[in-house]
Amino acid sequence: MDHFNSRNGVMFAEDVDLRTIADAVGTPVYVYSSATLERHFNVFHEAFAPLDPLVCFAVKANSNQAVLATLAKAGAGADVVSGGELKRALAAGIAPEKIVFSGVGKTADEMRLALEAGILQFNIESEPELEALNAVAASLGVVAPVSVRVNPDVDAKTHAKISTGKAENKFGISWQKVDMLYERMRTMANIKATGVDVHIGSQLTELEPFRAAFARVVELVKSLRAAGHDIHHIDLGGGLGIPYDPDVAAPPAPAAYGALIRDVLAGLDCRIILEPGRLIAGNAGILLTRVLYEKIGDNRTFYILDGAMNDLMRPAMYDAFHHIVPVEDQAGDSFAADFVGPVCESSDVFGTGRATKRLKAGDLVAIKSAGAYGAVMSSTYNSRPLVAEVLVKGDAYAVVRPRVEVEDLIAMDKVPDWI
Ligand SMILES: *Cc1c(COP(=O)(O)O)cnc(C)c1O
Repeated sequence: MDHFNSRNGVMFAEDVDLRTIADAVGTPVYVYSSATLERHFNVFHEAFAPLDPLVCFAVKANSNQAVLATLAKAGAGADVVSGGELKRALAAGIAPEKIVFSGVGKTADEMRLALEAGILQFNIESEPELEALNAVAASLGVVAPVSVRVNPDVDAKTHAKISTGKAENKFGISWQKVDMLYERMRTMANIKATGVDVHIGSQLTELEPFRAAFARVVELVKSLRAAGHDIHHIDLGGGLGIPYDPDVAAPPAPAAYGALIRDVLAGLDCRIILEPGRLIAGNAGILLTRVLYEKIGDNRTFYILDGAMNDLMRPAMYDAFHHIVPVEDQAGDSFAADFVGPVCESSDVFGTGRATKRLKAGDLVAIKSAGAYGAVMSSTYNSRPLVAEVLVKGDAYAVVRPRVEVEDLIAMDKVPDWI
């Protein structure tokens, strides 16, 4: 459920008319709803309430300071995958003891930053990375808390580019080899094994892959404990899917996911960490854009928008579906049209053959479910300004990232004096 609703034929974000934001801030612009962010966080947290989990928002889904601060206030921790995300999480007021650090390629500088901040745990993805962390921790005279990310070799049944838990993916340590790594940790003076971590992919629309992966992790926790390791954290990653297409059955609700986890983990006395990203932020945001032209081709009609693939990459990168709706209800019959951006790439397409009423230049269009993996992936390709972001709360809204204009981008370039 989100808080983008139609009132008298016009789409609002909470109590703000989207036309007001478009006129004041310009388009394209991301619009986020505070109430939706909070609702998604609370529904997710409540699905696990008896287990009192630590819910670490995956910062890579949306790293705007205002979004992070909103979630921090609701009680969220953070899952970060770079030193930059760690700095963003700390700057937004997320306590270091609620931060976990994931990712396959942490640098020594990033490890130092995280150790100095005192984060909850490092999710380690290879033996060389473990050796590097031990060395950095030794140089600082501290002990690094570590979970090993296990690759459970299960098929997440999601898009190949967002699947991470198969043996051929670059992520995690194969579950047959993981014992070795925990034995190695026992001999390291500056590493302490505290838990086990898993994350099998994103936008999962079935629960079975989760069940298979988590069951494997539970077995692993038991065998590690039997071998004398003090395992008291279990990090189950993120990945639960969200509804993007109103014509496709919605993925399982957080309550069903919570019930599955309670079932699989029954009796395992472990602190549970979860890392949802998309589920919290995805449907809490839209990309608001305007029709530039209606182009009538030989056998199809194109709506050329002022938003493009550089503002929202997901359709070009993952063939992702985003529902596209006009902000103002239109009269007349529906027909099929393509919604595209102005960038000089054939992949700059938001949707093909979409049923729509006739639109005209200047009409506003909302590209829905764009709050996760939207603005964070935006670029300035084609020397387009970096897209703006707005956060709504009730009847108030604020620009939470101003548009970065091309003059600012030009000023960042330096021309050497030999030219
Ligand atoms: C991307 C990622 C997440 C978040 O995934 P969602 O599908 O957005 O919930 C969580 N943990 C790790 C390690 C990730 O890489």
